[in-house]
Formats: sequence, structure tokens, C-alpha cells
Amino acid sequence: MGRPWLFFAVSFALSLSAGLSWAAPDQEFDQGVDHKPVLEAAVAAAGSLLPAASRAHAKGDDVPVWISVADKDVSVLGEAFGLPDRPVILQGAGVSIYQARTAELDELSEAMHQKLHKCGGFFAHSTLEAAKADLEPAPAAAARALTIDQGAVVPAMVALADEPSITKTITRLASFKNRYYRSKTGTESSRWIGEHWKELSQGRTDMSVSLLKHSGWTQESVILTVTGSAEPEKVVVLGGHADSIAGWYGGEDATAPGADDNASGIAALTETIRIIVATGYRPKKTLKFMAYAAEEVGLRGSQEIAASFKKDGVAVQGAFQLDMTNFNGSAEDIFLITDHTNDAQNAFVGKLVETYTSYKLGRTACGYACSDHASWTKNGFAASFPFEAKFGEDNKNIHTAQDTLAQSGGHSKHALKFAKLAVAYAVEMAK
Ligand SMILES: [Zn+2]
Repeated sequence: MGRPWLFFAVSFALSLSAGLSWAAPDQEFDQGVDHKPVLEAAVAAAGSLLPAASRAHAKGDDVPVWISVADKDVSVLGEAFGLPDRPVILQGAGVSIYQARTAELDELSEAMHQKLHKCGGFFAHSTLEAAKADLEPAPAAAARALTIDQGAVVPAMVALADEPSITKTITRLASFKNRYYRSKTGTESSRWIGEHWKELSQGRTDMSVSLLKHSGWTQESVILTVTGSAEPEKVVVLGGHADSIAGWYGGEDATAPGADDNASGIAALTETIRIIVATGYRPKKTLKFMAYAAEEVGLRGSQEIAASFKKDGVAVQGAFQLDMTNFNGSAEDIFLITDHTNDAQNAFVGKLVETYTSYKLGRTACGYACSDHASWTKNGFAASFPFEAKFGEDNKNIHTAQDTLAQSGGHSKHALKFAKLAVAYAVEMAK
């Protein structure tokens, strides 16, 4: 055993491809037999069974894509997105891979939101080869010494966190009709983030901003780098998704302000950047702030980045995810997501909250692939995800035209807590 997807592929290919002559016993897989033809046959057979184009609503290119979904989510989705009727291509580690088309991703995203209350909820890949990694348990992240001893620096920086400044960023981002990953305003909004981050870091020769192009859609991911003064090769990641979505029906024409999901996360990160510049703080390790493209349609931007960092052997010290920070729906202030995150780093982030703030801490789980932290986790990096509420008590208006700042009382007092935590995380990690 150990490679259950192979067995599935074999049985799938044999059951669906009547004309296929391949019939070797499956133990030969482990003796160097080329299984590629079997997989290709399975894939071809599955493609012919896909539902008609009636499910495809989004505009733009419509190409095959591979989606990884938690097995336990499939039946919950039920009729909302007919995965139970669709052939499983490969299966393993509690995850099934299906073939779909890019035009269906909005509908799957909406079903995940409606039935499982998730933002994201699945991984999407442009190749089956890339999807296969989801069938293996995530590799363990390297153990790191996580200490808290920057009491001379952090409180003064945290004190500068400014609610109106966060509100300004949220308001600007929510003013785009949408930040959809393949709409004109989706591209423009990410470029605005890049321009704004550039303006903030003007005059700092150790800071630079780049736009990362993705193949398959137009919205770029934005990366601001603060190069470490002593150990620049060691990288600390703070990120959140830049895109927004509203249901499966509107696509690039939808009204999707995404004020909470996730202008609020980008705004908290932007405030952290502003404070770094305002104080002249220089990290010893490299900080990378990221605004990921295309999270809502299968964590596509963050997956590309995390996978490329793994491939290049980047020494990622840890990843910190902010996705929805401004809806105060629970008695506690900051909830640490406990699943698909790193326990040791979560404990450290909890201690940061205790050490540098007076906020009440909670813990909650959000399920498979619920945000970009999962992209880092599955590539073997330690990720943590502080969230706005207990899962289920978070903002109900996300993924609609009503995800506006008004739902958070017209201010950013809750997001402010996450900006402060992000400052503490950046300084204690990059020392
Ligand atoms: Zn989100």
C-alpha cells in the first residue's frame, strides 16, 4: 500500500475503459512499470463522463482543471455541486481528485461557501501531476526555536497600529466592483496593492515590490520583500488573498466588495508594512508580505508560490495567514485555526497574543483547504492562521455584494487586533 491512488487509477481505468488492453497485476507498479498510460486512460474516461457545459457559467477561458476535495466534504456538498455523481480520478489520505473545468470553479467555490461555510475549501491544479501531491500527508515542517524576547521593540511598534489607516485600505479595496481573479478590476485591484505598497516603502533600499504573473488567469500576486540585514536567505511569510468573489453567477461582472473577505486581511498586512517603515525597523531575516491571487477558486496563487519556494529550497521560517479579520462575531478576539496549521508555531502565536496584547484567544478548526495557509502546510512549511471568530460565527455576508465595511460597523477595530499581532509575529520571527 502507500499509494492508494494508483490502485484507484487502475480499477478506474479498467472499469471505465472497456477497450483498454492493459491488465498487468497492480504489484508491478512497484517494480518499475510505467503507469502513465493507465493514468491517461483513466483521465480520458473521466473526461467523457463530465456533466454537460450547463454547469459552466463563468466567462473567459474554459480549460480542464484538477480539484482536490476532502472526502468528508463531498457528501455535504451533495446537490450543490454534484461531486458524488462524478468519477473520482485518484484518492488517498482522505482526499479525492476530480476533473473539472475552470468555468466550474466559481460554482464549486459557492457550494463550499453555502454548504461548508468555507472561503476556498479545495485545491485546484492545472495538471493531474500537481494534484497528486494532495494525496500524500503533508511533510512535517522543520522544528524551529520560537522565542519571545523583543519586548524592547514590539510594544512601541504595536502602539502605532492605526484603525483609520486600516479602514482607508479596506474602503479603497472594497471600492473595486470586484477583485475577481480573471476580471479587469481583479487585475487593477492587485496592481493598486502593488502601487500602494511601493509608495509606503519609498526610500527604503531594503524593500521592493514585485508582481507575480500566473499562467491561466490575469490577476497577479503581489510580493513586498524586506531584505534581512543579517540572514537574508531566511524568509518569513505574511500573506492573505487579494481576490474576491460573489457566487457562481456573476463571475467578472459580479459586485464583490470583499471588505472582510479579504480586504481586511490585506489591510492589516498593509498596516504592518506602514509601521515597519514609520519606525525604520530593519529585520535580520527577510520578510515577505504577499497578496495572493485566485484564492477563492482553489488557492491557486498561494499554491504556485509555496510550491516554487519548496522547489527552490527557500528557507521559510514560518507563514502567517490573514483571511477575514474584521467581523467580531465571538466572545474571544482572535481564533487560531487548529487544523492544517503547525502546532508549535500556533503555540508561539498564542504566546504573542498573551505577551503583547490584552486580547482573548480562542481556537477553532476550519476544515480542508479553507485558506492559503493550507498551501504552505502541504509544502512542508509551518503555517498559522489567526481568524476573526469561532468558525461558524464568522461573517455570513462573505461572497456576496453585502460583504461591506458596514457589516463590521463601518470601522476596523477588529482588524486592528490582527495588524498588531502581525507586527509582533514579524519582529519576533525575523530577529
Ligand atoms: Zn477569504
